Amino acid sequence: MAGASVKVAVRVRPFSARESSRQAKCVIQMRGNTTCITNPKLPKDGTKHFTFDYSYWSHTSEEDPNFASQRRVYQDIGEEMLAHAFEGYNVCILAYGQTGAGKSYTMMGRQEPGQRGIIPQLCEDLFARMAREGSPELSFSVEVSYLEIYCERVRDLLNPKSRGGLRVREHPLLGPYVQDLSRLAVASFADIADLMDSGNKARTVAATNMNETSSRSHAVFSIVFSQRRQDPLSELATEKVSRISLVDLAGSERADASGAKGIRLKEGANINKSLTTLGKVISALAEATSKKKKPEFIPYRDSVLTWLLKENLGGNSRTAMIAALSPADCSYEETLSTLRYADRTKQIRCHAVINEDPNARLIRELRREVTRLRELLSAQGLTDPSLTSSAPPSTAPPTLNGDPGLEPPLGPTEAMERLQETEKIIAELNETWEEKLRRTEALRLEREALLAEMGVALREDGGTVGVFSPKKTPHLVNLNEDPLMSECLLYHIKDGVTRVGRVDVDIKLSGPSIQDQHCLFRSCPDPSSGEAVVTLEPCEGAETYVNGKQVTEPVVLKSGNRLILGQNHVFRFTHPEQARRQREQGASPGPPLDWNLAQRELLEQQGIDMRLHRLQELQNQPQGDKEGSEQTQPPEAPVCPGPPPCPGPGCRPLPVPSVPSMVPSGPRRAGRREPLRVYQIPQRRRGPGTSSSSSSSSSSPALRISTEPSLEPALRLREEEEKDEGGEQVSEVEGLRLHLDRLAGILSEVRRQNSAKDEQIRALRDRVGQMERVIPIPLDDADDADPPPQDAPRDPSPCRPRPRADPPSPPGAAAARLCRLMEQDPAFRRGRLRWLRQEQARLMAGGGPQPLLQPPRRPPRFQQDPKLRFPFKSNPQHRLAWAGGEGDAPQADNSPLPSLQPPPHSGRPRRGSLDGGSPPPPRVRRQRSAPDLKARGQIP
Ligand code: ADP
Ligand code: MG
Repeated sequence: MAGASVKVAVRVRPFSARESSRQAKCVIQMRGNTTCITNPKLPKDGTKHFTFDYSYWSHTSEEDPNFASQRRVYQDIGEEMLAHAFEGYNVCILAYGQTGAGKSYTMMGRQEPGQRGIIPQLCEDLFARMAREGSPELSFSVEVSYLEIYCERVRDLLNPKSRGGLRVREHPLLGPYVQDLSRLAVASFADIADLMDSGNKARTVAATNMNETSSRSHAVFSIVFSQRRQDPLSELATEKVSRISLVDLAGSERADASGAKGIRLKEGANINKSLTTLGKVISALAEATSKKKKPEFIPYRDSVLTWLLKENLGGNSRTAMIAALSPADCSYEETLSTLRYADRTKQIRCHAVINEDPNARLIRELRREVTRLRELLSAQGLTDPSLTSSAPPSTAPPTLNGDPGLEPPLGPTEAMERLQETEKIIAELNETWEEKLRRTEALRLEREALLAEMGVALREDGGTVGVFSPKKTPHLVNLNEDPLMSECLLYHIKDGVTRVGRVDVDIKLSGPSIQDQHCLFRSCPDPSSGEAVVTLEPCEGAETYVNGKQVTEPVVLKSGNRLILGQNHVFRFTHPEQARRQREQGASPGPPLDWNLAQRELLEQQGIDMRLHRLQELQNQPQGDKEGSEQTQPPEAPVCPGPPPCPGPGCRPLPVPSVPSMVPSGPRRAGRREPLRVYQIPQRRRGPGTSSSSSSSSSSPALRISTEPSLEPALRLREEEEKDEGGEQVSEVEGLRLHLDRLAGILSEVRRQNSAKDEQIRALRDRVGQMERVIPIPLDDADDADPPPQDAPRDPSPCRPRPRADPPSPPGAAAARLCRLMEQDPAFRRGRLRWLRQEQARLMAGGGPQPLLQPPRRPPRFQQDPKLRFPFKSNPQHRLAWAGGEGDAPQADNSPLPSLQPPPHSGRPRRGSLDGGSPPPPRVRRQRSAPDLKARGQIP
């Protein structure tokens, strides 16, 4: 049976009274297994077709040959699933659809004959078949649990001591399970029906008292069905265990489609989290099936429901889904969405296996697990726990599916917890049937005691299931928005006084607006007829309504009156004898005396909408942590760059920026988070890469170092802030102002430091320029040691620095004189060179970070052209021309060999290029001379 698809059925219900009164049109048609839906806005070409395993037409009545009754639905789906359970497979039936589409009707149904849903029929059939097939060799056992998931919290509906919020855990062997969920042994269908009824009662009480939207909760009714066969020949026992999960899902509609327009359900995320995740899980599984590959990641763990139903969704289970459809045109969108959901679900394939002997194997494996945990704990007790706590278990236990358990290392606490839990599971598994039955009975008595304490009537007139009608006693019946929860709690009004309220009362209610002593019912016999007359007396200030009217004085009740106590306890008063008399007198039945009527009356007379009220309450409940983070402003408002508080009327505060906060968020006070105070400190320039100043193009390390301290005040300020915040509580606005002042101080300090640095840079640059003009190239030692030879004055080398110095400063005559003196007077030349060296040393000592003996920039062309040096040195004509050319330009111009004018200096690097001045004239001559030299063959 491995790899079977999920069975999918759709079912369309009749029009509701409301839909009929509004003359709704049916948009669903069914032919065979095909379901068609027509868009009421595009009736001609807007029909969509879907094919499923079953399409159930329940829109009409029994007379219609196509009509699908509760029995037929059960026979198709329920019987097949029950057969799988007897084979030893896990089975699951899910009901999906929008609120009011018929999920609960299909799963639970009503008490009337022929109206029971799949769950009671399946349970009845289960016991009937057990009775048929049971024999000395084959014995059966059935255990039941019933839970509800509301807002991701799990509530045990069968254990009155359980207050909700059960933990969902994952055991390495058992997989996901609900811790402490009661699993009650049942011996007959009556027992199971009783548990169903008790569970529905508990659900109703909780939903009413907690003012919950019951249609938003998921109900999971689980049956663990075991078959034990004893082979008479071998005397070997074999066992098959099947888990039957019957799930009535929450309404699939979107929050705003349920009449809650304009109200955003803040906890809608949680309410629908399970359903949303179920959708994702189904999509992921369907996609994996369609692509024929193993699913990579299925988000089972994202919600309680999907986690618990992990095996049923694409795992070890035979699964069916019934999608309930509303036929009305006004529900077209939701119905289409349900059909699409169902269409996706049918692609999922489950891989069911027969669970043979799982209990014996489970007990074996659990015992092994206990030994392992004990060893782990004793090892941790004997040695350093810090060393052993992180040590992984010696052998990872296998899961029930045979997958190796990928267990994280256990710490001592977890190991202890796991050990206790495992021992508890073993104890439960080893419990004898009699012990289980005793536990079930004890819990039943507790449940009944609790209901009796609340004033809820039980088992009167021999009835055990649902609400029974006492023959004589006047009573109240609860009304609920959810038909499944309506008329399932009954409260007697005894002779004399029946008190209602929270404390020391006969009928105990809770929830908003219920007072300790809320009201009382006085039942006195009428002196003439002897019939009981019931009077409602509200206590002072108690919200009490009769047929929508608030009552403050005693009022005599009539059978059929609607009572609302507080804000959400709705009842119908029934006086059996009055009702019988009315029937006998042939009074017209009138509209159904249900929750909708009570709500309508209240809205008309008081303007109170219970549904809206509840939604508003829900909205106010869990805002908590999201406060602040959800404070988004309309985008059209201009962003206010100014400091808060901003006086501008249309301004909104700066959005939470992505810059790191300089101020830690304030402490939480009384559950309210202080607004985040986030400011942006101007970014400092950090070196050339981030420099934005046009004046600073230098990459000097001095600049980089000098910018660092400018952040110090800000950091100091932050420390001060932290101290301040820990110490004193300044008012919010004052604190903000103070902080802004300090920030402004930091900003001006940073600006001042910036401009000082710019000044410094400018001064440095000027000095570098000066140095480059003045400092000669490094001189040869020979120049110092020995006086130049006689012809040395003719050597143009002393004049080398001059071409750079010449153009800006000395006029031509002074330069010529200087050159002449350098050439002719060795003492002058030595003195001048010494002065130049001193000048160079002085400038260097003046703060230049770079050693300027090595010129930073040197035109490479002179180094690359060393040959040009030699002709000038060796050729006296050149020297003559050079000397004359330097001092007397006209002479040079008149020279017979103007083209042979030497370049302004030898191969030594020129340094004048940095000063930005115009190039010296000899350079022009040199450029002209090179080709000429070549042309004359003087250059090789
Ligand atoms: P849901 O659980 O999906 O919110 P219910 O099962 O409570 O919806 O159905 C809403 C109402 O419609 C109930 O009064 C129920 O009796 C009625 N109803 C739903 N399906 C059918 C059906 N197939 N035949 C007759 N009545 C139905
Ligand atoms: Mg329902």
